[in-house]
Amino acid sequence: MNTCRRPLESRYDQRLAIPALLCLVSFLLPSFTSAQEPKPMPSKIDFAIAIHGGAGLRIQKLTEEEKNIRIESLKRIIEVGRKVLAEGGTALDAVEQTVRALEDDPLFNAGKGAVFNANGEHELDASIMDGATHQCGGVAGVSTVKNPISLARLVMSETRHIILGFHGAEQFADEMKDRPQIERVPNSYFSTDARRKIWLEAVEEEKKKQAAKPGTGTVGCVVLDKHGNLAAGTSTGGLTNKRWGRIGDTPIIGAGNYADNATCAVSGTGVGEHFIRNSIGYRTSALMELKGLSLEEAVQEIVHKVLPAEGGGVIAVDRLGNIAMDMNTAGMPRAAADSTGRLEVKLGK
Ligand code: ASP
Repeated sequence: MNTCRRPLESRYDQRLAIPALLCLVSFLLPSFTSAQEPKPMPSKIDFAIAIHGGAGLRIQKLTEEEKNIRIESLKRIIEVGRKVLAEGGTALDAVEQTVRALEDDPLFNAGKGAVFNANGEHELDASIMDGATHQCGGVAGVSTVKNPISLARLVMSETRHIILGFHGAEQFADEMKDRPQIERVPNSYFSTDARRKIWLEAVEEEKKKQAAKPGTGTVGCVVLDKHGNLAAGTSTGGLTNKRWGRIGDTPIIGAGNYADNATCAVSGTGVGEHFIRNSIGYRTSALMELKGLSLEEAVQEIVHKVLPAEGGGVIAVDRLGNIAMDMNTAGMPRAAADSTGRLEVKLGK
């Protein structure tokens, strides 16, 4: 009877039901299986560290051998901080130890190898900041302290001030003479032939046009430690042929150096006047805090929209261990490492 016959579509349904079921099972099976055996999650980053050696590197002028020397030096020095962090040391200790190693390497414009000022001398700036407490310290224009980053840390921990400069900083170093990390040296200790040559060239150039040369090779370090704390440190000889008494962005908290556990730790390098004018360190953090940008996005915006062309670069780390390193100059020696075994070393773009 017609009444017993099902409509054509329904018969089609029945014939299609088994293959459709098989199809559904085969579709669900892999996800069911993978639910039973979850893929390993990427391991959590317990600690992270990044360093830079200045945004002014003229990479196109370097021979392969000169490039390799810089790469080896960055690898050796990032290991100093990586070791402190792997052993459970604090972010501040990792930053101080790493920046000291950078200061001791004559390749960089900080400590030994610092640029010459217009008087043919060396005046060094440095600062350090603890992202957990917002405690910070800086020194400007020191001329006999072998490792300015350590004096900056003592300004933070032993005084109620943030920045000490010139004779005041030297006098404070005299008072800290019992601390093993405060070694004094004659100003000539910082000189190298390579820097003297660059300075003499700059003096000649300056006779033609009134411009200070970017001091290639400022150093910086940003760190996340195993305790979840961030810290940043930066140290420099400043700009080649700078006026006596000029203070750049490096000792100025929020300009060349900044750390806040809620956002990131930042170290900058480049023409310090741009960094001061645009509050680069704090601004990177504010882009994350107030605009909700990721670390990578904040650093991109700072380097490519805020800093003028050829203005410099920054390195930064956030509390998840993400690292961002970028510059709008041709080169910035830099390295990154973390607890997952990541190790990256780069000179140019
Ligand atoms: N920012 C430093 C200064 O202006 C120089 C540099 O990073 O190369 O003192």
